[in-house]
Amino acid sequence: MIIVLKPSTAPEQLLAFTEKLKNDYGVRINRWDGVHSTVLGLIGDTTQVDIEYIEAQDIVESVKRVQEPYKKANRKFHPENTAVKISDTVTIGDGSLHIMAGPCSVESEEQIVGIAKSVQQSGATLLRGGAFKPRTSPYAFQGLKSAGLDLLKTARKETGLPIVTEIMRVSHIDMFENVDVIQVGARNMQNFELLKELGKTDKPILLKRGLSATIEEWLMSAEYIMAGGNDKVMLCERGIRTYETFTRNTLDISAIPVIKRLSHLPVIVDPSHAAGKSWLVEPLAMAAVAAGADGLIIEVHNDPPHALSDGAQSLTPQQFDGVASKLLSLKKALTQ
Ligand code: PEP
Ligand code: MN
Repeated sequence: MIIVLKPSTAPEQLLAFTEKLKNDYGVRINRWDGVHSTVLGLIGDTTQVDIEYIEAQDIVESVKRVQEPYKKANRKFHPENTAVKISDTVTIGDGSLHIMAGPCSVESEEQIVGIAKSVQQSGATLLRGGAFKPRTSPYAFQGLKSAGLDLLKTARKETGLPIVTEIMRVSHIDMFENVDVIQVGARNMQNFELLKELGKTDKPILLKRGLSATIEEWLMSAEYIMAGGNDKVMLCERGIRTYETFTRNTLDISAIPVIKRLSHLPVIVDPSHAAGKSWLVEPLAMAAVAAGADGLIIEVHNDPPHALSDGAQSLTPQQFDGVASKLLSLKKALTQ
């Protein structure tokens, strides 16, 4: 961290300030005295340094971080990839490709069990399905709630597929005890109280990128979970808001190699919510695998025109079968 002091800084103010920084944050300080200003370089772990406190001091002209504000999610401090074990047969981030597939919303036992069996046949290794749905309209289908969780468990029993489903509030954490992967949706990426509580669990977390979140903000949200002691975090790129309106969101393909460089956490890509259109799912998913994603999460519905949510972006089981086979072949070709 680099701090530029105002030319008017008196020697005793400088001394008091540097002593406070050393005592409060345990950093070492290098000082350069220029003709017009003094520059301080903070050396050591600056993740705990409160940049707003520094900016607010009268003697400070400007301050700039040169090191990332996240530590546990940072590849610099953890060079090896993190692999998140979900079950005896599913580990994400170990170099293999995992496809999570299923409907946007769990709608009935017949629907979720039928889709689970079919996507498993096509190569999916996890079942997705929303029981608590964050909908833009309060009048839209809000999910089957705890009954939806029970149906996911039934589908897991029938197929053995681990289940991935979204949590929306802290008070539901106990209800999610038996879920294999807890999804934090884009709208809750900065629900810090939820992130802190999930940090106290040992559940694998699928942390979706916020609609308008920068990569650094997203990694700071991962840091919230990890700071609590839970390092089983997977980051999910699901498209971001841009000026483009043709697609529901814009899939940020570059986020995949960027996250891989900055962090050791696995990256999952959701082409369905990025695209908003089923025909776009395949090319986006293929691009994600080519760019190094560890997994995909894809919406599949038995009857998309009658889906209770996100029908337009849902693949039919037959379409998913074709897409999954191409994705798995591409992954194989890339690893050979
Ligand atoms: C979902 O997965 O159904 C969902 C609501 O996703 P997102 O949070 O990315 O919009
Ligand atoms: Mn959806």
